[in-house]
Amino acid sequence: MRSVGHFIGGRTVAGTSGREADVFRPATGEVQARVALASADEVRAAIANAAEAQPAWGATNPQRRARVMMRFVDLLNDHMDELAAMLSSEHGKTVPDAKGDVQRGLEVAEFAIGIPHLLKGEYTEGAGPGIDVYSMRQPLGVVAGITPFNFPAMIPMWKFCPAIACGNAYVLKPSERDPSVPVRLAELMLEAGAPPGILNVVQGDKEAVDVLLTDPRVAAVGFVGSSDIASYVYSTAAAHGKRAQCFGGAKNHMIVMPDADMEMAANALVGAGYGSAGERCMAISVAVPVGETAADALMERLVPKVEALRIGPSDDPDADFGPLVTRAAVDKVRRYVDVGVEEGAELVVDGRDFRLQGYEDGFYLGACLFDRVRPDMTIYKEEIFGPVLSVVRAADYDEAVRLPSTHEYGNGVAIFTRDGDTARDFTARVDTGMVGVNVPIPVPIAYHTFGGWKRSGFGDLNQHGPDSVRFFTKTKTVTSRWPGGVKEGADFAMPVMR
Ligand code: NAD
Repeated sequence: MRSVGHFIGGRTVAGTSGREADVFRPATGEVQARVALASADEVRAAIANAAEAQPAWGATNPQRRARVMMRFVDLLNDHMDELAAMLSSEHGKTVPDAKGDVQRGLEVAEFAIGIPHLLKGEYTEGAGPGIDVYSMRQPLGVVAGITPFNFPAMIPMWKFCPAIACGNAYVLKPSERDPSVPVRLAELMLEAGAPPGILNVVQGDKEAVDVLLTDPRVAAVGFVGSSDIASYVYSTAAAHGKRAQCFGGAKNHMIVMPDADMEMAANALVGAGYGSAGERCMAISVAVPVGETAADALMERLVPKVEALRIGPSDDPDADFGPLVTRAAVDKVRRYVDVGVEEGAELVVDGRDFRLQGYEDGFYLGACLFDRVRPDMTIYKEEIFGPVLSVVRAADYDEAVRLPSTHEYGNGVAIFTRDGDTARDFTARVDTGMVGVNVPIPVPIAYHTFGGWKRSGFGDLNQHGPDSVRFFTKTKTVTSRWPGGVKEGADFAMPVMR
């Protein structure tokens, strides 16, 4: 059986803890590999390697660091098919979707190529007599990231590309469910010219994470995953004096106004609701048509589209979506559907008994669609993270704004309308971090920033874009005076500019 180990100090290293976990092929349900789970000592070894490599890397001029990112982008493009096949086999998402996963990470590497410009500081000439003031951005040192199963290429790259471009060394703890792609990315980063120790990957679980959260050599921690763990990582890292940005779960609503193009809205809902089997943090899981007429018109188009969705193994080019990540995930999502029925929601499309011929042991679940879901129901309040879409019929626009704004999650939201005033009012008032106008999955492009609000995001800086440079650097401000302005003698008053 294949084993997946760590990547420390520029080489792959087998695990020594004696602890391992299964890595499945969700399409067939078989165990395809075993992944090592790091001991505290193995994580400390990765941190030590990073700490040793970082000072020289941080002192390398930013243009040379940018060239490493340029070569990394080229290598990602050269290896796109290989990475997508590897990703899809461990995660279960279709191959085109897996390429999107790599591509959205690659775009952040492209953003990081601009690091010489992004790191330019601020300068004030003549702030006082002979006095100049300037600020510079310096790397933090060793930084760490803990990432989820659902984007095993994109989210690690969102984190380590800007971090490394800023001059830091990185320790990544990816999800133990799809651990191979992160190691391959680290190999490619080495091939691109990053020195050994600048990007390390430790496989593992809570034991590994806890070392990253408490070791004094780690200056900052980034996390993406479920909200309870995001909150734990944020508070533990902060209690140990680290900078932290932690992103959690989601319940993304899509408002459908009566004037929306209903065909466009229905197409957007099936893609954003069921793509990647609903295992995206920006998946739409709640549709909110406004008014009964709009709701009926939407349902009329939506139901046949959901019934026609094609589910297939990850390498089926015609599949709309593939299996879920584990059998436990299928069981959990199916339980939510049972609860929805028990609590009185109308299950209009029931995918619970779906079986894929020839793949009976794969982790499949058919698409499920609920109508007349109420805000007090469990399936509305909690994140399901599967191919389940809930329709909540809102009486009017105010209720449609209130629903996502008062939900405990605040990741993304979308509105479909032809009316500019409504769209403008909605984007200003709604209480979520990312908004789409006639765009169902409003994941911001690489040079803007990504981040949810409320229980979807802990910390005050977002991922990628300008915020990532702020997060991965500390600002030093220098006030200097050269002889022309120096006056004789000591001055005991607080210096002020007159
Ligand atoms: P998860 O919370 O189970 O795991 C995330 C990471 O935390 C993994 O690396 C895992 O090994 C580690 N971990 C697990 N248990 C831990 C513990 N007790 N202590 C410390 N670390 C622990 O999440 P997941 O199932 O891998 O991913 C799905 C979740 O991630 C969903 O809730 C989804 O909404 C969320 N997500 C959010 C975003 C975002 O940007 N907000 C993006 C992608 C995924």
